Amino acid sequence: MKPVKFDYTVPAALMAVPALLAGQERVSKVVSGGQSLGAMLNLRLVQPDVLLDISGLADLKLIQETRDAWVIGACITHANIEDGCIAGKVGEVLASIARGIAYRAVRNRGTIGGSLAHADPSADWLCTLMALNTTIRLVSQAGARTLALEKFVTGAYEVDLAEDELIESVTIPKLSETQYWGYSKICRKTGEFAHAMAAVMRDTAKGNTRLVLGATERSPLVIVESDDALFESRDRFRADVIERALSAHGVIDPIGNQIRVAACQRALKKSFGVATR
Ligand SMILES: Cc1cc2nc3c(=O)[nH]c(=O)nc-3n(C[C@H](O)[C@H](O)[C@H](O)COP(=O)(O)OP(=O)(O)OC[C@H]3O[C@@H](n4cnc5c(N)ncnc54)[C@H](O)[C@@H]3O)c2cc1C
Repeated sequence: MKPVKFDYTVPAALMAVPALLAGQERVSKVVSGGQSLGAMLNLRLVQPDVLLDISGLADLKLIQETRDAWVIGACITHANIEDGCIAGKVGEVLASIARGIAYRAVRNRGTIGGSLAHADPSADWLCTLMALNTTIRLVSQAGARTLALEKFVTGAYEVDLAEDELIESVTIPKLSETQYWGYSKICRKTGEFAHAMAAVMRDTAKGNTRLVLGATERSPLVIVESDDALFESRDRFRADVIERALSAHGVIDPIGNQIRVAACQRALKKSFGVATR
């Protein structure tokens, strides 16, 4: 199938975009990498009158390091991240995730902001950035607002984004020496969307763990618990706690949940430096 006819515009500045999105006569949609939107246009799942190409806007390509965090512009691509545009422990984590997204041609175009706005439950950034306690900054005609990523994502492919709003950046807190990371993505072929995925952030100073499960066909499930409540042994989660949380989240799928628990166990082992498949 081919998309319906649309116009293509390149806005001159970030602050011109909200007014264009709010235009009453014609439906406008932003495009950044086009890697998900392209397919949706072709399938006619979306039929905008105008595409606003934001991929070249300098304000959306900024990367800032503050004392406590990294601020990453919405149009930074997966390939930028894979190539090390962010330094330190956060940069290592993000580069390792970026390498596992699709293949290089997709990563060259796909952006972090586009991935979060699309909110595919199996998207790597959604799960990863929630585990990293990320906040997201949105801009609209009314100004800017910031909210936790887990509040921004309201369901599968559903986000809290007003008609005239777009993602400007994400802020990821820096990782301390006492925080340990693990990630597992279970898929048939390297670079495919996941069947199960889990991200683990252990904080040994606080004695707690933030565990995020993606690929649930709902918004990712975030579990934050003390290690005493979550761990069966040093590097093994209590499967019953995870299964109960999945069920409370509405994910009732005994076979799928076994794979999800396996993803959690693998991610946890990785956070202890144990190699897993
Ligand atoms: C073959 C293939 C394999 C893939 N495999 C994976 C994978 O394994 N893991 C994974 O995580 N992803 C995967 N993807 C998705 C890829 O990561 C895309 O980059 C991502 O889904 C969308 O990013 P984009 O920049 O291309 O967004 P676009 O396609 O341009 O836009 C997607 C949606 O977000 C909106 N949007 C874009 N930017 C903004 C913004 N700044 N503010 C508000 N709304 C915005 C658009 O209007 C649209 O609704 C794959 C894609 C393909 C084609």
